Amino acid sequence: MDFEGYCVKCREKREVTEGEVKETPNGRRMVQGECPVCSTKVTRFLPSEKKKEQES
Ligand SMILES: [Zn+2]
Repeated sequence: MDFEGYCVKCREKREVTEGEVKETPNGRRMVQGECPVCSTKVTRFLPSEKKKEQES
């Protein structure tokens, strides 16, 4: 899936395409992809379906 993530290397938000959705052992879902500029791995946690969490 495509998502907007924060690249720690560019220190900017990047539009990531073809991100891979994964689930942590804690049951949290996240999406991982590569920064289109520097190819650093960008991770973003997805909001939980059970309870709402704050997102920055
Ligand atoms: Zn980057």
